[in-house]
Amino acid sequence: MKRWVKGGLAAGGAAVAAGALRRYLNPEPRYSPWEKRPYGEFEKKVLVVGGGFGGYAVTEKLTEMTRARDDVGVMMISRENFFTFWPMVAGTISSDIDTLNVAQPLRRALITAGASFRRAALRHIDYERRVAVAEGGKEFSYEHLVLAVGAQPNFFGIEGVAEHCLTMKGIADAERIRNRVIERFEDATLADGDVPASSLTFAVIGGGSTGVETAAEIDALITDALAPDYPGIRRDRVKVILLTRGKEILPELDPALRRAARARLAARNVEVLTNAAAERVEADRVILKDGREIETENAIWTAGGRPNELLKDLDLPLTERDGVIVDEYLRVADRPGLWSLGDCAAVPNVLAENEKERYVPPTAQAAVQEGYVAAENVLASLDGREEDLKPFEYRPMGHLVELGSEFAVNEVLGVRFSGLLAALVWRATYLYKLESPRGKAQVATDWILGLFFRPAAAEIRRDG
Ligand SMILES: Cc1cc2nc3c(=O)[nH]c(=O)nc-3n(C[C@H](O)[C@H](O)[C@H](O)COP(=O)(O)OP(=O)(O)OC[C@H]3O[C@@H](n4cnc5c(N)ncnc54)[C@H](O)[C@@H]3O)c2cc1C
Repeated sequence: MKRWVKGGLAAGGAAVAAGALRRYLNPEPRYSPWEKRPYGEFEKKVLVVGGGFGGYAVTEKLTEMTRARDDVGVMMISRENFFTFWPMVAGTISSDIDTLNVAQPLRRALITAGASFRRAALRHIDYERRVAVAEGGKEFSYEHLVLAVGAQPNFFGIEGVAEHCLTMKGIADAERIRNRVIERFEDATLADGDVPASSLTFAVIGGGSTGVETAAEIDALITDALAPDYPGIRRDRVKVILLTRGKEILPELDPALRRAARARLAARNVEVLTNAAAERVEADRVILKDGREIETENAIWTAGGRPNELLKDLDLPLTERDGVIVDEYLRVADRPGLWSLGDCAAVPNVLAENEKERYVPPTAQAAVQEGYVAAENVLASLDGREEDLKPFEYRPMGHLVELGSEFAVNEVLGVRFSGLLAALVWRATYLYKLESPRGKAQVATDWILGLFFRPAAAEIRRDG
């Protein structure tokens, strides 16, 4: 066969294979645009409020279970039109991961599965009429409503936190922290280094996994990305301090892993202060309960969360700390057709061994497990099979905490390990869990490029 014929056949084969791969990676929506009935016309309507870990899991599972049925319509409404992949948010501070890859578009994934989506923020629920009312007055009817509106930072009434601290409850927050660090480096350079120590001190308040990951990522941004580009700023002038009110950081982990995390932070120049409860935050300092003062103009609050404050306006049985009170089937008492889960719900931990474990902890893995059970229970209720309701049993899979790109401390199904291998397991696990195939490919590529290139450190100021 002539060489040019062979070449043509090979090119044609490659084009067909590329087309097939593209179709596989971009499945068609379940309904063509002309086939899909409006959500309001379905005989049985399920409305999911909140597009986070819990809300997405319920919607995904419900659409999967009703794929062969045309009587059940599922709609999600959520405040943003993307899903925040929380475990990777801290990684955007050091630019290890691109912000856009952590914000996964909801609409595409949902219409592919067969659900509808509207970007709308819930304001009120009319339980009599079974209607959810969004900001602006738009109404969404439902037969069953799953409330999964998540959490928000808890400042515990500590003076000055709201005014002076950056927080870590969203992608935009992580971007703000990153910009703040870069801005301080620019300011110091402009002033030929003549800036107070408080300007170059970054104090992360909270010794849980969000605080530890945030401090580690700030250090990675400074050490790996900024320091070589700002040779005029001596590294020993820049401080990253992690403050925790308890005796230990990462109290949920095994003591050996805590020690490993602490040793790693010390090796990376993150100073850890224990028994350091913040009493007041001012523009240039954090004042601790024992009278110590940390001079910093850059305090970052990660020390606690509480259920979404919207719940207070929804006339629901609530606990201030844990959220909407639900039974073991995730139903809200005295509100027929209403279910709640995730960080906004006080879900009873039926396998609890002590009073401290009374409620399921607010984690992504719990929200996802709850979502799957809620989907089954909602469908059983829709079909009048109350005897098939399944109680929710929380099965924790473990903890994975990353401290920069080459080190993690993991506890998976009782096995504890730390170091580079743990970091690889962290990355493989979350890459697998990332929903969008494009996001997966981009994050993997970023990580590979990160082996060869230093991360870029541009400060994109959204306010112009
Ligand atoms: C920085 C950070 C890192 C974390 N890392 C991990 C981790 O590594 N592993 C882990 O297990 N857990 C982690 N968590 C905890 C985990 O993210 C939460 O437990 C989990 O997201 C809870 O899921 P959810 O669906 O209840 O809430 P979320 O995922 O927060 O989703 C809530 C949704 O509700 C929407 N919403 C809010 N208000 C309204 C409204 N009025 N109307 C409509 N929609 C609304 C929001 O837009 C959002 O889509 C982390 C948390 C943070 C803050």
